[in-house]
Parts: sequence; C-alpha cells; structure tokens
Amino acid sequence: MSPFDVIVVGGGINGAGIARDAALRGLRTCLLEQGDLCNSTTRWSSRLIHGGLRYLEFGELGLVHESLQERENLLRNAPHLVRPLPLMIPVYENSRRGMKTVDFGLYVYDLLSIGRSVPGHRRLSREEALEEMPGLLAEGLIGAVVYYDAQVTYVERLVVENALGAALAGARIETHTVVEKVLLERNHVTGVEVRNTRTGERSTRHGTAIVNAAGPWVDRILAVAGRPLPRFLGPTKGTHIVVRPFPGATATACYAEARSDGRPFFILPWNDLVLIGTTDTRCDDDPATLRATEAEIGYLLDETRKTFPACGLTRESVLYTYCGVRPLPRQGLKETAAITRRHLIRHHGRSARGLSSIIGGKITTYRHLAEEVLDQVASRQRLTARSCTTAEIPLPGGEAGRDEVLKELATFTAVPGASHEHLYAVYGSRAPLVAALTRAAPELGQPLCASSGALGAEVVFAVQAEFAVTLGDILLRRCMAGLGPDLGRGAIAAALSVAARHLGWDDGRCRAEAAAYLAEIEPLRLLTPS
Ligand SMILES: Cc1cc2nc3c(=O)[nH]c(=O)nc-3n(C[C@H](O)[C@H](O)[C@H](O)COP(=O)(O)OP(=O)(O)OC[C@H]3O[C@@H](n4cnc5c(N)ncnc54)[C@H](O)[C@@H]3O)c2cc1C
Repeated sequence: MSPFDVIVVGGGINGAGIARDAALRGLRTCLLEQGDLCNSTTRWSSRLIHGGLRYLEFGELGLVHESLQERENLLRNAPHLVRPLPLMIPVYENSRRGMKTVDFGLYVYDLLSIGRSVPGHRRLSREEALEEMPGLLAEGLIGAVVYYDAQVTYVERLVVENALGAALAGARIETHTVVEKVLLERNHVTGVEVRNTRTGERSTRHGTAIVNAAGPWVDRILAVAGRPLPRFLGPTKGTHIVVRPFPGATATACYAEARSDGRPFFILPWNDLVLIGTTDTRCDDDPATLRATEAEIGYLLDETRKTFPACGLTRESVLYTYCGVRPLPRQGLKETAAITRRHLIRHHGRSARGLSSIIGGKITTYRHLAEEVLDQVASRQRLTARSCTTAEIPLPGGEAGRDEVLKELATFTAVPGASHEHLYAVYGSRAPLVAALTRAAPELGQPLCASSGALGAEVVFAVQAEFAVTLGDILLRRCMAGLGPDLGRGAIAAALSVAARHLGWDDGRCRAEAAAYLAEIEPLRLLTPS
C-alpha cells in the first residue's frame, strides 16, 4: 500500500471530520477506527449542536461565537440531521441565575450568533411559561426565557456522513482496525502498525503525518509511540437516561437548574423519546467499560421530578441509560464545569515529528477543528493541499431538500409511505439510493420492526455502501433502529433474515451476530437492583 499524506486515528466526529477535510483538500488520507464509526464519546453525548450558553459564565466568548457559527454551518450543510431546537429556561425565586442574568446571557448569545437562521430569544411571564410548558413546577416560578439551538438526533449519522464524504473524495476508511503502535525513525513518524480486530491480521500503514483523534484514548496512543510523551487528559463522566414522553414533556426542551446542586441539565425531546442528562464527575475508568451508576440515575430522575412534579417517572420508567467520558484537557483541581470545552491541538515536534493530538472539543465545532488541524499539518509537513471547503460543501445527504426527497421516495412502490420521513431523517438526499434497492428486491421494502420505520433495504445498504460490518453497526449506527425503546431487539430477527438472504450470512454468523448485538447493548440496560 502506498504511503498516505495523513493517517487519522479514531473514527469519532473529530477523526471523521479531519479525514473528510484532508481528502477534500486532495491529500492521500487513511482513517483507522478500532471499532465501528462513532462508537464512543460522540455517541454518548447530549446530541446538541449548540453555542454552549453555560460557557458564557466562564468568559469563553470565543468558543461560544465559534460554536454558534458552526451551528449555522451544520443547519445549512446537513439539514436532514441537524435541526433547530427550542429550549426553555425556567427561572424560580431561588434559582442561582435570576431572570436578568439569563436574559442578559441570551442577549449576548444572540449577538454572538450573527447571521443566525433561528429566532432570537424571548422572555416569558410566569403565566406564559406555564402555558407553553404546562407540566413545569409552578411554585416559585417567576418566568422563563425561550431560545433556539440545534439538535443532531442521529449523531452517528453525522460521523458516517463525514466518513462517506472522505471516501467519496478518495480517502481509505478502515473500521474494526486498531492502531497498536506508532512507528518512528529518528524522531519522525513513519506510519502505524494496525490489527484487524475481526481477522487478527496485522499490517502497516505508512505516512508522515499522523493525527491522534482517539478521544478518551488519546494518551494511550501516545503511550504506544514508544517515546516519553506528555499525558493530556483529565476526563469527566457524563450520564444520560432515556424515558418515554411523560405528562408535561413538550417539543420544547427544558434547560433546568438542578435543585440539589445548581448544575444546569437538559430534558430533551429526542427520537420520539426523552433524553435527560447529564452528570459531570471526574473519571479515570476505562471508557469502554463505563456504566451508569444508581446514584447518577437517581440524581437525574429526582431532578426531573422536581422540575416536572406530575411526570410520574420512577426507576422503572428508564428505558436505557448511556454514559461517556469527555476527553477534556487536564486542568488540576478545577471544578469540572469550569474545565474548558475548547479543543487543543498538540504537535509532538521534538520527539515524534509529524504526530499531532486532539484534546477536548465539542461535536458542534468538529468542522472548524478539522480545518485548523489540516491547516497546521499541511504547513508543518509542507504538504501541497487545497484550501478548506467544508464550510460550504453540504454533507453527502445534504444535497437536496426534504420536499424533493419525499417526492422522489413516493415513486418507489415497494417503500411504505410510513417510512419516508425516517428515510429522509437518516439519509437525507441519499434516501432514494436506499429505496432503489427495492426495485430489484421488493421484499427489502418490509419494515425491520414496528417502531423505527427502518426497512430491510437499509441492512443491505449499510454493508454495501456505508462501511457497516456487524449487526451492531447496522442497527445502532446506520439505520438507527437500535435507539428505540427496546434498543433494537425487535429488529434483530428481520435484520438477520435480510443479511442471510442478501449478504450471504450463514446460520453460524447470524447466531454469533445476534449474541454480539445483545452483548453490545447490555451496558445500556439497567442493572437489576440487588
Ligand atoms: C456526556 C457528554 C455530553 C456531551 N454533549 C455534547 C453536546 O451536546 N454537544 C457537543 O457539541 N458536544 C458534546 N460533548 C462533547 C463531544 O461528545 C466530544 O467532544 C466529541 O464527541 C469527541 O469526539 P472525538 O472524535 O474526539 O472522540 P470519540 O467520539 O471518542 O472518538 C474517538 C475514536 O477513537 C477510536 N480509537 C481509540 N483508540 C484507537 C486505536 N488505538 N485505534 C483506532 N481507533 C481508536 C475510538 O474507538 C473512538 O471511536 C459531550 C460529551 C459527553 C461525554
């Protein structure tokens, strides 16, 4: 295999974004991901594309401005994935942040989002707030403020589309391929040693610029470089719970202040369910083995009950949980909320020339991060690269609007109308490519399960056109059937039957995939109380 200009380690949002930008600039690019695309931090986030109102309290005006500009870029370039979201901040007599503070914060927020396409904020009286969000705790309520940010319901798809965009521009995408060693000659990187985790096969990828975008594993990549490189991370854990819509939950999200500790937390309408989070505690545990604790689940439930007294949520209401670690820069004993969410780019000039590491950051700002990384890498490595175009070019599914796509989907007789919105929300302008599979095999128009709208055709498409390998890749990170109330268990049989017929999976493979799928979703399920 000929050498690459840029090797990117890690297929989360940052790695995929960097690979796409590099390939679009004409650089020979390889993306290496130990599991599937988007299998870690990016997936365990609150899925907001936001300026980060909270960061204003820490004086991070630059970060808020950058995030708000990127929010606009995403609303324009990926309208099927990133959609405007109204949020309400209720203000109580005893709130830490009073009406004037919240209103002023949002005034600055609006100023920083110059050229925004979403409405500005508005103040609500107590009565207006209760009319818009009838389930809110009324006692002590002074009023509320409503403002707009955006939500990426299927952040997995944002990563997949970045990887696809990279591949369409010529990049090599290798999933289930772990980087085991960074190769160096006289303090210059020359490539990486990799192992395919499915076949066990070991090989080498050569290249003189390596970008370490391994998220919470950034320090581990530095450890396999065989040089005494510094450690950067001071991770914190964030947990979410997923419940069904409860009495009082609305299409407007609630950004509330926790009564017990004053921390802000979100109650978000998401995927026809409600996503509640997050916690923020220091954590040095292995990111791959994290589970939500009873204390974290209890905290989120308690605080939701205090905000929506009639919600009726109990531990049994929790459909599933998820948690991840923020790969934040190590910042001593600082309060976790005060640790910057800005990204840092570190070049290991002396001991490993050509190696750069990404620390921290947000999903929201991944595109700008990628642009900065590539500008720096191209200049340091003296690579001939075109300038960055990712702010202007739509993601692969963002090339046609919703109405146009729905109109085209209506021409496929084997695709049920009930699945049209699902296909647009997941694939955008690429949805007709999925639907086209039903022309030759109409049975692929059959739904995989009752709830998600996902079709058999998506199983085939995921493997043939979107780098999926396992059943987990297909259900959890391509067709999104795995994010429903039952975590996709209801789709397993139908998906395997399609894979057997159209992808040649034999009985043994189907049994192994079903078992691996159940093992993959196990950490999201509640432990039985002892
Ligand atoms: C609880 C929580 C809530 C958040 N909410 C938001 C939010 O609402 N909005 C927002 O903008 N941001 C949010 N963030 C921040 C955001 O999720 C992260 O900053 C971002 O996802 C980091 O992406 P990444 O690509 O760097 O890391 P990851 O997504 O973790 O990707 C790193 C990848 O590297 C791979 N990898 C590791 N080691 C190797 C190896 N040796 N070989 C090959 N591959 C390897 C991993 O498998 C992984 O897929 C949140 C974070 C958390 C934890």
